[in-house]
Amino acid sequence: MSTELTDDLAHDLPTIDGGDNPTVAPDTSFASFGVHADIVTALADHGIVTPFPIQAMTLPVALGGHDIIGQAKTGTGKTLGFGVPLLDKIVAPIDPGYADLDYPGRPQALVVVPTRELAVQVGTDLGKAAAKRGIRVECIYGGRAFEPQIAALTRGVDVVVGTPGRLIDLTQQRHLNLHSVRTVVLDEADEMLDLGFLPDVERLLGQTPTSRQTMLFSATMPGAVVSLARRYMTQPTHIRAMAAGDEGSTVSAIEQFIYRAHAMDKVEMVSRILQAQGRGLTIIFTRTKRTAAKVAEELTDRGFATAALHGDLGQGAREQAMRAFRNGKVDVLVATDVAARGIDVDNVTHVINFQCPEDEKTYLHRTGRTGRAGQTGVAVTLVDWDDLPRWTLINKALDLGITEPIETYSSSEHLYADLDIAPSVTGRLPRTARVRAGLRAERIEDLGETGASAGKGRSQRSGRRQSSSHDGKAADTSADRRKGSTNDTEGERRPRRRRRTRGGVTVSDAAAADTAGSQS
Ligand code: ADP
Ligand code: MG
Repeated sequence: MSTELTDDLAHDLPTIDGGDNPTVAPDTSFASFGVHADIVTALADHGIVTPFPIQAMTLPVALGGHDIIGQAKTGTGKTLGFGVPLLDKIVAPIDPGYADLDYPGRPQALVVVPTRELAVQVGTDLGKAAAKRGIRVECIYGGRAFEPQIAALTRGVDVVVGTPGRLIDLTQQRHLNLHSVRTVVLDEADEMLDLGFLPDVERLLGQTPTSRQTMLFSATMPGAVVSLARRYMTQPTHIRAMAAGDEGSTVSAIEQFIYRAHAMDKVEMVSRILQAQGRGLTIIFTRTKRTAAKVAEELTDRGFATAALHGDLGQGAREQAMRAFRNGKVDVLVATDVAARGIDVDNVTHVINFQCPEDEKTYLHRTGRTGRAGQTGVAVTLVDWDDLPRWTLINKALDLGITEPIETYSSSEHLYADLDIAPSVTGRLPRTARVRAGLRAERIEDLGETGASAGKGRSQRSGRRQSSSHDGKAADTSADRRKGSTNDTEGERRPRRRRRTRGGVTVSDAAAADTAGSQS
């Protein structure tokens, strides 16, 4: 691997730069870094033997206990980049030194992530790597009942992975004590600051010992992230496994098609695109919850195994949709941007922007859901006439060279040629091709959720109010709340906040959602 230690002028931090195309020497393995044998074996059980470049660059520095700012594109393996060193340092209950800890059972490591979905994903990945060490990894995030999380913390937890709102709640309630934390990871730091979590993150950091090791990972390095790093990190090394001028870009391995489309014809177009050769898992993005729900319904009617993922669904339904998508019971996920933050599912072959993204960042985030872990992907963006100015800005910012998207219909020949669709396909999936089990085949878990789903009665919510000391945080909604204040079309705020009173009558969530939807 070619790494040189340079002085990064932009941030004047010591930098290890992997160059434009970082590679790993063929004989490198996790074992060769001296990682605990049980972690090496556990990873090998999942076919993970050779570190990815960001991991190979991070491991020696992180295992040495140094602070790290890690920067790499999504899907390149950042989780194990911090996860392996973090787990390697944990004194597990099976270790002789465990009894000598000042407070055994208090978390020794804290991973803060911006979204619930990412908490689950990171927690699962760490759990796999830790399986043979008996290290207890617990996910702490909102929308679920407090009780199981509190019970786990009371029994003893070694690693906590969580979203800021719920973590703060539990520290305030004194169920979570961060004074024994020796490693803190801020994952997707740029997303976290985007979502307005900076005060929460600072508060959490303030409760951990200053002697801690801090690792911050981010696909992009905006000024706010760098200044967070300056304030809370000790002589961090900036490790970059991507080209310097390439920050945030995920598009190189993704084939991009932009079409000007007509609202009435979009579902017809999408039905054809979903029958392209080689089409695997597909994410369709919409700007509003209402459109997400509607498109999912129409595609289901047409025979596609589809699930919706948006903020009007309760946490149980969201997790059901994610599980069904991950395990292939459905192969089409229709999602809003906020709900889809941090979704990292491998093998997504196609991303379809049903509505033009808000800006270039959203475009990169959406398209970056495909082309992960070294694979290629296809991103199709449908641009309405009204959205052309918006597209023009995105095109300019990303220098994509598509100033005038070609007008396209579900019958346009170039659509079939571009995307490798057989000319004979129709707007419905033939019965013989309907082989997936569908969303209903995926169990919906009762999470005792605190983030109420659409359509639930008022009494339940007022009941929750009484029982919760500060219910503004009960649903871990700071992300949704803050996002909601700047981006109303997406309207991912929690129902409680959307409820409005008209002439003394509570307006239902569905009606509130309609209001949000009609703004698009
Ligand atoms: P990022 O956080 O950079 O977006 P992830 O850590 O989620 O990426 O990793 C992306 C995918 O690559 C995951 O499915 C993960 O299991 C897989 N992966 C990570 N490291 C390795 C490795 N060394 N060998 C094989 N697969 C890996
Ligand atoms: Mg990640």
